[in-house]
Amino acid sequence: APASKAKTRSDESRVLGIRLTHPDRVLYPEQGLTKLGLARFYEEIQDWILPRLARRPLSLVRCPEGRTSECFFQKHPRVAIPASVPRIDIEEKSGRSQYLYVESAADLVALVQAGALEIHPWGSRVEDIERPDNLVFDLDPAPGVAWQEILRIAGTLRERLESLGLGAFVRTTGGKGLHVVVPITPSATWDEAKAFAKTVAQQHVQDDPKRLTINMAKSKREGRIFIDYLRNGRGATAVASYSVRARENAPVCVPVRWDELNAALRADRYTTENLKRRLAALREDPWAGYAEAARPIGKDLLNAVGLT
Ligand code: ATP
Ligand code: MN
Ligand code: MN
Repeated sequence: APASKAKTRSDESRVLGIRLTHPDRVLYPEQGLTKLGLARFYEEIQDWILPRLARRPLSLVRCPEGRTSECFFQKHPRVAIPASVPRIDIEEKSGRSQYLYVESAADLVALVQAGALEIHPWGSRVEDIERPDNLVFDLDPAPGVAWQEILRIAGTLRERLESLGLGAFVRTTGGKGLHVVVPITPSATWDEAKAFAKTVAQQHVQDDPKRLTINMAKSKREGRIFIDYLRNGRGATAVASYSVRARENAPVCVPVRWDELNAALRADRYTTENLKRRLAALREDPWAGYAEAARPIGKDLLNAVGLT
């Protein structure tokens, strides 16, 4: 990993040229993980996080005083975000507004400087924001749903997607569930992509209505896994692979191989502390073949699920 610049003053550090104020502020009391520690974490894992995060509009979960104090989900940069982080203007219902994106490890450090404890990208890149290049099926278990059940549903969803000719990749969220991510060639619009994801989710629910739902209502979700396809709308986000979470023990969202899914691999298995060991031991990207697996959501696929 690239070396950090030495401390300049005791109340201030520089990492990758970015000034960090309050470097010793504890953001995660469980491990005593500080702001400087989190900046170094991203510096070390930059080659894992950047390729699939770079150049996507971002929302952030910011907790300037640490994860146990006030946190807020923020779509638009405010003054607290260093000016060095690139921005893009995006048209929204309320008018044009600015979104951040990152291009470099220094930009990640700048987000840490701003107190960002979670990074949530769009499913499209700044070059082509109207055409998503991935779908996310966010599997959200209700309290009490067995982990084996989540594993099973992730597996059957994978089969469904593969039988449609799509690739399916899985990650632990650092929270309670799993995300199944599908690379797509940017061509369909957000509305088409979301309609496709909704239909796939709906068909999955039809096969197992006792255990699954796409209904947001709490009462319908009780005892079930909610297949949250709403991550696939324009402006919607899902947490980035290799982003830390603003939750106890600094868990990280981590791409895994399908054959790693087992009882021991909980959604919060990996943290900023144990991730390095995993990455050092990997022989290849757990999502090897991701880019090559991308297919367009075109007429054929929309037909295949009965959408045209
Ligand atoms: P878990 O496995 O615990 O469900 P998760 O990251 O999937 O972890 P969800 O609660 O399912 O968490 O959230 C899914 C996504 O919704 C988040 O990753 C985020 O991008 C988005 N989200 C979260 N909070 C907000 C919010 N306040 N406003 C808008 N979008 C949000
Ligand atoms: Mn979820
Ligand atoms: Mn969700």
